[in-house]
Amino acid sequence: MAGYRAPDPGKPHIQRHAHKQTLTARVVGFVLMWSIVGAVALAAERALPSEHVPWKPLALIDPLGAATRIKAARTGEDPAACREVLQQGGVEFLEVAPRTSGFCDIHDAVNMEAGMAPLSPRGAPMTCKQALAVSIWERQVVQQAAFDSFGQAVVRIDHYGTYACRRIYGQDEGAVSQHATANALDVAGFRLADGTVISVQKDWSDAGQKGRFLRTVRDGACKVFLTTLSPDYNAQHHDHFHLDMGGWAKCA
Ligand SMILES: [Zn+2]
Repeated sequence: MAGYRAPDPGKPHIQRHAHKQTLTARVVGFVLMWSIVGAVALAAERALPSEHVPWKPLALIDPLGAATRIKAARTGEDPAACREVLQQGGVEFLEVAPRTSGFCDIHDAVNMEAGMAPLSPRGAPMTCKQALAVSIWERQVVQQAAFDSFGQAVVRIDHYGTYACRRIYGQDEGAVSQHATANALDVAGFRLADGTVISVQKDWSDAGQKGRFLRTVRDGACKVFLTTLSPDYNAQHHDHFHLDMGGWAKCA
């Protein structure tokens, strides 16, 4: 039995060799595993529609998705990006001159002129962020629900205002309302192409199509705005939806 000698596992150089092999296998395994994870994540990211992916750019034509609200809030913080999304979506607007009065302040605000159902009364200044959310809601929620329920478009959105220099519920003290920075819209109702009027005050409790329409557009608002308050919230909101992009996250 000459020529071959079984390796002695006790010898240090053999141990070192085995250790090296294990380390190499671990590194290869680690790289391979993360390559697979990365490839799967990339494929999922490419396959997912934009409205579900927070880092993909926002567009008014995107249907509502898991990332709509976060994208609207983030894009709205960037004055240039906000206006670009509105313009690309066909919304025409005029800039509103900044002004400050006491604790109230309008800046980065626009007046939407065309490209969506007009707000009535006209001339409703709101922050670009709020205008962006209103545009998304009008296209992806309100018009969609109007066609589903009534087979026609909403041609006017009635409202009680955007900017109002006041604190919450008009109290003398306490938190400043989002209306004090034109970052909110109080929606009173909708007018359809055939002249039908749907009023939050009159139709919220309606068991028929008008009531269902109002509840659908309220639920949809919760997926776009940070705060959505309806008659379900409290008596102060019996006649309107309060929609804003700056308050506390609330859907009621
Ligand atoms: Zn309000």
